[in-house]
Order: sequence, then C-alpha cells, then structure tokens
Amino acid sequence: MGETKNRGRNGNQKSFVKCLRCKECKRTYEIAPVHICDVCFGPLEIEYDYDAINLKKNMLKSRKANMWRYRELLPVEGEVLPRDVGFTPLFRARNLERYLACKEIWIKNDGVNFPTLSFKDRVVAVAVKKAKDFNFSAVACASTGNLANSVASIASMYGMRAFILIPYDLEPTKILASSIYGVDVIGVKGIYDDVNRLCSEIAEKYRIAFVNINIRPFYSEGSKTYGFEIAEQMNFRLPDHIVVPMAGGSLITKIWKAFQEFKRLGLIKSVETRLHGAQPEGCAPIVNAVKKELAIFTPVKEPKTIAKSLAIGNPPDGYYAAKVIRESGGWAEAPSDKEIIEAIKILAEKEGIFTETAGGVTLGALIRLIESGKISRSESILISLTGNGLKTQEALSEYVPKVKIIQPSIESFEEIYGDEIRKFRV
Ligand SMILES: *Cc1c(COP(=O)(O)O)cnc(C)c1O
Ligand SMILES: [Zn+2]
Repeated sequence: MGETKNRGRNGNQKSFVKCLRCKECKRTYEIAPVHICDVCFGPLEIEYDYDAINLKKNMLKSRKANMWRYRELLPVEGEVLPRDVGFTPLFRARNLERYLACKEIWIKNDGVNFPTLSFKDRVVAVAVKKAKDFNFSAVACASTGNLANSVASIASMYGMRAFILIPYDLEPTKILASSIYGVDVIGVKGIYDDVNRLCSEIAEKYRIAFVNINIRPFYSEGSKTYGFEIAEQMNFRLPDHIVVPMAGGSLITKIWKAFQEFKRLGLIKSVETRLHGAQPEGCAPIVNAVKKELAIFTPVKEPKTIAKSLAIGNPPDGYYAAKVIRESGGWAEAPSDKEIIEAIKILAEKEGIFTETAGGVTLGALIRLIESGKISRSESILISLTGNGLKTQEALSEYVPKVKIIQPSIESFEEIYGDEIRKFRV
C-alpha cells in the first residue's frame, strides 16, 4: 500500500513539512519556534512538500475519525494528544432550511469537539505538541476563553506547566473551565489586545511557548482540519457558501488553505465556495474593512459585545481574512447582540443545538446575508458552529422562559396548565 511508504520508524507518519515561508516577501526559514519574518515583519506560514504527498480518498476511509487522519498536511510527527480531537458532526439542517426558506443548509458543529467543546481543540492539539517538540517546558496563551480552556486541558495531558492569560471580565464558566485543570489562570485588567501585547512581551523575555503568538504558524495549521473535514464529510463536493465566525481571523484563512491543498492533491476538482466572515457588531474590524472595501482595517479600541470569544479589536490575521473573503467572492456581516441572541434561540429550537455566542454571530450573519441577497436561498450553505452554549450561559439567562415552580402534587401540576393539559389525558 502507498501508505506504508510514508511511515516512520515507530509506525507514525513522517511529516512533509518543508520550511516556514514569509507570507509577504516569501523568504524561507527553517522549522523553529519563530513566527515573524526578520526582514519584512510578515507572518510566517508552514510549507509542505506537496509533490511528495500521496493522499487519496480511499486511503482516508480506513483512518480513525479524528483530525490526525490528515496528518500528511499537518506539521506533526510521532505520538499526539489527544487522539480523539476533531472529526466533529456535519449534518443537513432540515428544520433550519424550512424556517429560513432555503434549499440546502449544512451545519458543522465543533461545539462538541474533544476535549473542551470548541474549535480551539484543533489548533491547540497541534501547538502543544510542537511546544513539546521544541523542548519548551511551559505553554501559554492570550485568550478570549475557548483557547484558554483548550490550552489548560491539553497542557495537562502532556504534564506541562501552563500560563493562561485572559481579560479579567470573561464569562465565569469559561474561567472555571480553565481553572479546573489546576493551571495558572491570570486575569488581566484590560481588553484582549492588552492581554495579547503583554503576552508578546513575556514571550520576548522568557522561554514560554505562547500557542497563538510565538508558535502561531503551527497553531493555525490545526484550523485547516476543519476545512478538510467539511470537504471529506460532504463527499468532496464543497458547498456554495460557508459562513465563518472570525476572532483573530485565522480559521477563515485556513479553511481556504485547506481547500486549496485538497485541490492541489487532486482530492477536489475546483474551489467555487464563497467564504463569508461573521463578527459581532460591537467588534467587527474585519467585517467593516470588507464592507468598505478597504485593504487595511481599523482596530476596534473598545469592543462591546456579548460574543466575547470573538472580541479581538486588532485581529492578527485580519488583513488575510479580508483578502480570502474577497478572493473567494464572499462578503461579511456583523449582527447586533439582539440578533445574536435571537439566532442562538433559533438554532436551539429548530436544530436542537445549544451553540455559544459565536454561533449566534454566525447564524445572525447568515440571516443578514440572505436578506441582503448576498447569499441566494437556492444555493447550498454551510454554517460553522465553533463553540458550546453551556460555556456562555450568562449571556442568555435573561432571554429564556422562567422555570415553573410547583408543589410535588398532581393538582399543582394541573393548575399551571389549566385546560390545556386535558388533551394529553390517557
Ligand atoms: C477562536 C474562535 C473562533 C475563530 O477564531 P480565529 O481567531 O478567527 O481563528 C471562532 N469561534 C470560536 C467559538 C472561537 O473560540
Ligand atoms: Zn518577509
């Protein structure tokens, strides 16, 4: 079999990584924990030896249902943790189709990812493994919540020290879902951009692997698996439109890279999909740049939104995210908090999914895109759900029906329903 050729000594696949390359001046760098070009300060990206990669549809069939099935296109070698990350459900959303009068809507749900119920488990699984390979003894991150949970969990699996830096005012559930791992959680009095700047300073001075800063090129490669899975789970026929939530702007650019790589390897024929970006109205620097057709974006100084996981005022990949949106022929939308809450409730009531605030942003953006005619109701659409509503319950507590309190008696039960309950009589 072609596959055995690619295997290393202990049965694990060898990596096909060639080098790091500057996205701007194209200068190459050896594989190391670096992320910025010395010459032009452009971001570095992993490059593979595509000609040496042999990956066929039928080879994928026999592989385990996790994101490591695409290992040829990831910068990892040897044992990885956790094994069962990725390959989350992708399914047809018939009720939502009916509700929005659309022909074909699909949902890809990373809200049930392992281990911490968000898309971030993909990027962190790659990043922490690389931190280990580069002989770091501590990992860290600047996070809006989900990344923190994921770094805390996966660092614990590897037995590594972890420093989790977050804006101090995140949702309590998200904070606890990091603290439970016994790691250092540090609440910074400021917004995400302050946290990020502080982390960059710490990374200059101490040998700590900040997953989304000094080893960012490796981290962001993990996002590609979300795109690979969309392609494979849709039987290698891509949807006409994908709506993607944007925080730092990495996921949307890497879905695009994933599709281009699959095309290059002959797994898909062409990429006609339009990628649409979603951000909350209260923090929408990328969306604003796309809508105003500007090449550069203006950072948002004071994000104000319930979608805290997406509240990055100065997104590191914002420029590239806007570029991918334009290149693919997509558009961008930024729903208000009210629309976000409404969309979360629609997903729960129509599809049985409790998504986090970011998921509300995504569906809210889709609704706007349909209403403005940017997405046609007759074309196929996929929405990216990337987090779990159980982590952002605080945002919803005022907007759900109150619990009905009764006495433990049948009379008390009957009383609250009046005549309506009669029709259920046996
Ligand atoms: C981090 C995150 C994203 C997207 O992040 P990028 O920084 O744009 O890659 C989307 N949804 C959720 C829930 C997230 O936590
Ligand atoms: Zn450069």
